[in-house]
Amino acid sequence: MSRVIVIGGGPAGMMAAIASAGRGNVTTLLEKNSSLGKKLLITGKGRCNVTNSCPLDGFIANTPVHGRFLYSALKGFSNQDLMQFFESRGVPLKEERGGRIFPVSDKSADVLAALKAELAKKGVTVLNKTVRRILTQEGSVCGVETVQGETISCNRVILATGGKSYPLTGSTGDGYSMAEALGHKVTPLKPSLVPLETREPWIPSLQGLSLRNTGLKVLDPDSKKTLFEDFGEMLFTHYGVSGPIILSASAFVRDISGKVIELDLKPGLTEEKLEERVLRDFEKFHNKNFQNSLTELLPAKLIPIVVQLSGISGEKKVNQISRQERRQLTALLKHFSFTVSRPRPIEEAIVTSGGIDIKQINPTTMESKLIKGLFFAGEIIDVDAYTGGFNLQIAFSTGWAAGTHAE
Ligand code: FAD
Repeated sequence: MSRVIVIGGGPAGMMAAIASAGRGNVTTLLEKNSSLGKKLLITGKGRCNVTNSCPLDGFIANTPVHGRFLYSALKGFSNQDLMQFFESRGVPLKEERGGRIFPVSDKSADVLAALKAELAKKGVTVLNKTVRRILTQEGSVCGVETVQGETISCNRVILATGGKSYPLTGSTGDGYSMAEALGHKVTPLKPSLVPLETREPWIPSLQGLSLRNTGLKVLDPDSKKTLFEDFGEMLFTHYGVSGPIILSASAFVRDISGKVIELDLKPGLTEEKLEERVLRDFEKFHNKNFQNSLTELLPAKLIPIVVQLSGISGEKKVNQISRQERRQLTALLKHFSFTVSRPRPIEEAIVTSGGIDIKQINPTTMESKLIKGLFFAGEIIDVDAYTGGFNLQIAFSTGWAAGTHAE
């Protein structure tokens, strides 16, 4: 039996504490916020996309950074195990598009309540404390020191302080320096699943415009090679673009600054069909100016920008628009392009990419290879995945692995 301290009461830390206490260890969970799981509550827009129904290989494929490191943890506590965990504790789940799993209630609070009830049932002591330092003696963990100046002794520490994103939830990256102080390498921290800033001066005028069914490509401006392709929802903001397909692009194309985003605003129509459609609209509005002829084709906010970029005068009568000009217009709608200047800061990212170097962590136990009795769990580790419930499963699985091995 060990005395285990878990630092950080997010999904990884809570699951680690549950697993540790389940093994009979005296387990204390230290959380710097006055309540547990602040970030968990805002996941999935408050609905909590808790995991994904895909097989293990799908998890690895959806974890572009060091997915294979997770193999053992995901096998040891799989999505099926996680679903069973919640369903057997009064949180029925449902599956949505792309295998995404949510609570039937659509309430992340229900997921948190089940975790809290289990912590209590397993006898975990939960304290509201901020840890400053992990204490060691001859290469082994012997306690932690809080910012309040207290020392709490233990022989196992599970470090689950999360990343650096959304710092108002408590994830301020404290764990990185604690690990560095003990000789661990922290790989460069970068935003992932993050909105993007764009170069073109006309983008801010589209602020608030949300596009539902849009084709998206990320292109290399030099080779014109397609680096990423997706379809779905996005929105324009005062600085650039955001929304699900933009966040996915930011995670997939790791060095996205300077890349070109090309939208297909009419993905349901080929260029020829779109030209026919434009022609029909022009016939219907044959007495109108070009700028007043696009109301049935495009959202109102987009019209002045499309007119500006089309090279056709907005004042031109529709019946005077040439075939060549019509083609220019359809090409613009099928390849509506702008350039990424940079991702938004890490604080606005859904996840932090980078973290504790996986080479220094045993992938089966999550124990440090440098310090005996020190374990890692969750987003602090240098792994990150796409959207779809993968990041929470990673937190729960690595938490479970650390908790069960911290004996
Ligand atoms: P965190 O959840 O960040 O928890 C770390 C905890 O440690 C915090 O409570 C913090 O206060 C505490 N802590 C930090 N420093 C100290 C210290 N010094 N002492 C004591 N305590 C400390 N993933 C999905 O799979 N599905 C989703 O639907 C989803 N939606 C998301 C939506 C948003 C807006 C965001 C920001 C993220 C979302 N994610 C989602 C990602 C997911 O929330 C994270 O990957 C996950 O929370 C990581 O868990 P963690 O336990 O490692 O870290």
